[in-house]
Amino acid sequence: MKQMEDVMSIEEANHIDELTGLHNLTGILEHLQGHDKYSASANTIIIFINVMNFKVFNQKYGFAGGNDFLRGMASELQKIFPDELIARIGGDQFIVLGNSIIEEEILEKMEEFREAVHNYEKGLKMKIKAGIYRAKGNEDDPVIMVDRAKMACDDIIRVYDRDNNFYTEELDKRNELRQYVIDNFENAFKQRYFRVYYQKEVRSITRKVCGYEALARWLDPKYGIISPAVFIEVLESVHLIHRLDIYMIDQVCCDLRDDINSGYEVEPISVNLSRLDFELCDIMSEIDKCRERYDIPKKLLHIEVTESAIAAGADFLGKHIKKFRDAGYEVWMDDFGAGYSSFNNLKDYDFDVVKIDMGFLREFETNQKSRIILASIVHMAKELGIHTLAEGVETEEQYEFLLKIGCEKMQGYLFGKPKPVSEFVRNVDCSSEISEEFEYSSYYDDIGTVNFLNNTPLRPKTMEIMIKLPIAIAELCEDKVSFIYANEAYMEFIREMGASDIEEANRIVHSSEVEDTRGLSKILKMAEGSYNQRSEADLVLNGNVVNTKVRFLSRHGDKAAFALVSRNITAEKSAHTMDDYSALVMHLMNLYNRIDVFDEDGNIENVFINGNQKAITDVERRTAIAIEVYSNMHIAEPERERFKAFFDMNTVHDRISKSGQQYLIDYYKSVIPGEEGRILMYIILPFFYNGKWRFIAACRYIDELNELVKEMSQL
Ligand code: C2E
Ligand code: MG
Ligand code: MG
Repeated sequence: MKQMEDVMSIEEANHIDELTGLHNLTGILEHLQGHDKYSASANTIIIFINVMNFKVFNQKYGFAGGNDFLRGMASELQKIFPDELIARIGGDQFIVLGNSIIEEEILEKMEEFREAVHNYEKGLKMKIKAGIYRAKGNEDDPVIMVDRAKMACDDIIRVYDRDNNFYTEELDKRNELRQYVIDNFENAFKQRYFRVYYQKEVRSITRKVCGYEALARWLDPKYGIISPAVFIEVLESVHLIHRLDIYMIDQVCCDLRDDINSGYEVEPISVNLSRLDFELCDIMSEIDKCRERYDIPKKLLHIEVTESAIAAGADFLGKHIKKFRDAGYEVWMDDFGAGYSSFNNLKDYDFDVVKIDMGFLREFETNQKSRIILASIVHMAKELGIHTLAEGVETEEQYEFLLKIGCEKMQGYLFGKPKPVSEFVRNVDCSSEISEEFEYSSYYDDIGTVNFLNNTPLRPKTMEIMIKLPIAIAELCEDKVSFIYANEAYMEFIREMGASDIEEANRIVHSSEVEDTRGLSKILKMAEGSYNQRSEADLVLNGNVVNTKVRFLSRHGDKAAFALVSRNITAEKSAHTMDDYSALVMHLMNLYNRIDVFDEDGNIENVFINGNQKAITDVERRTAIAIEVYSNMHIAEPERERFKAFFDMNTVHDRISKSGQQYLIDYYKSVIPGEEGRILMYIILPFFYNGKWRFIAACRYIDELNELVKEMSQL
């Protein structure tokens, strides 16, 4: 009512918004200029409110539904700001104007408002942004005041996690710069103010540069370096962005050609495209023209398309992405995770690389969740066969983490800020210590496909979900255990235990004759009762030893649920032990250059050889001759007789028993080419096996032993 009285006092029907009965923009301006309680003063506060996704609401519920929603908003605003003037100034834009709003209460009231609006949302999550302007009292024109509130609101339109924004001087300066850009972009093209800056992209596992991203800068005589964050948007709004992007790509090709001609190692360069490039020109043929002009192969240019562009572009962009990929260009998705529909984009379009938005790393230190999200993105991308690059890496800790989760490439201030070509030191930056040789890029890309976060990293990618760990969910009701879920791996295990499906498994478990099924209910109870809600036991089932690990999940009344992981260790044991032994034996063998076994009958066999030695036993199995041949090839001439005596099979037994030790040891000079003069240590160890004495003979260089002793003494 009160609002209506105010409206009537102005007595102008065209000051009223028909749909809501609120004021419209003219009405608001009229009041600001007038002489009532809403006239502009140093106490005036203007809140500009904008619904981000109203279009979607309209599409879903039609205009009538949309109108209901707007009327709902109007009535809630009136309830929450009963003493202020409320207006609807356009489709989904509202203004709250008042001289008695308490600044400290605004955020709280806006939250209250958003909460109230949920009642009208019909299940859609509406995103409402607010820009707030507190007047200074010296504004000449009320339009400026409304504009500034709008400016504050517009400033956070693309900021996903900010819903309220107060107008600041800095915002004003930014806007002034924006205005400057609008007024001067033609001149900037003419005067060649635009420059290419390059930022390194680094291969995580080698930490070598494996590419660069080309980023635009406007070098202005008045404002200095103007950031693309300011001018890209302006150029898009005046539909000239393609001119900049083609110019950038031309420069990139020109720089690449210079480097190729100078014989430097070149890396591929990623260039940024705007969604509008695809509409404003035939961007692919423009890029092809640039490449042809400088004779640059396609694989040296990667195409970056921002995620928001994709979200807005729907089908037609998909076609362009495909066209680029079919032609042999790599297409990268930029700023993944910054937009609203990241995951759909991965589903709907084929990309070679996702660049993970730096927003996740900004919270790396403060919010543990960001690590989980990053790991999940990398995991998912790998499962989809897409490569990953993390943007905005600034610390060693971030690098280590990303390396650990298998993120393949990184970019960020840790490795270098964007610089113009003139600031790169070619001999250093293009050297093979710093830069990856381009031929290796697909080699490392292949390595990058391995998913460290998967428990079946060795399987080829088939787009199917496969979990090797046998997991089941079991319920315990009184003393009765029943499986209610088993994954494919667990089903396999159940079949091994002799049941064909879950029902049969449950029947076996329920029959009290099977002793060990009672063991199962016991370990479930143990899990529920234990301090960490876990338990583990080996049970004998159907003649097999089965290891089962249990975690208690939840209880309601007499029902409790548990997660189980079971493994048949009878089946695994022998294979496992063999694996362990062979690993151990291999390790022992590696300490020696060679190991031979000879027996009392005068035969010799080589079991292991490493380094520059010759096996000999492959052509000669009789010990005496083999030793003769061996000593001629490997041992310094003056020591050969002594060496042959050391390996004399007829005396070896006696010598060992006389030595008072369990073995014989001696040293000889090597004449192996490249290793002349080094001292070899030979050791002979007897052992009795299968009714016969046999001897292990092993050798290694003693200088290596000395190294080892030195290292150990430093520990
Ligand atoms: P982008 O493609 O995601 O580029 C990465 C941005 O992150 C760059 O900002 C880069 O300077 C900045 N950056 C890199 N490492 C770090 C870091 O460790 N910490 C922080 N805080 N920032 C880092 P820049 O150069 O201001 O570019 C902004 C955006 O403008 C780009 O985001 C890109 O979307 C767009 N852009 C730049 N050049 C062009 C161009 O030639 N054409 C088009 N269409 N868009 C461009
Ligand atoms: Mg980019
Ligand atoms: Mg990016």
